[in-house]
Amino acid sequence: MLMTRERRSAIRTLRGWAISVLQEAGAIRECEEHGWMQDRADPHARERAFDVARQDPPAGVSPQAAAVAIAEVLDSIGDNCPECPAD
Ligand SMILES: [Zn+2]
Repeated sequence: MLMTRERRSAIRTLRGWAISVLQEAGAIRECEEHGWMQDRADPHARERAFDVARQDPPAGVSPQAAAVAIAEVLDSIGDNCPECPAD
């Protein structure tokens, strides 16, 4: 599972960049209580994140590599915060 408190001002890795893009697109969100990332399963938000990857990848990163980074983050994130009580 992924736990991060990275912010846009402190992006040091491609993964960190991908997480910030996904958050801004609304594809993932951070549990306010525990800090775990959760996949919101929103295909439109995912598409927005991939659009950013293709059109505005980080410096020195190809659009393809940026899109792969987005996909890898999505693969690694679950739908629910593991520490929040289940419904
Ligand atoms: Zn939680």
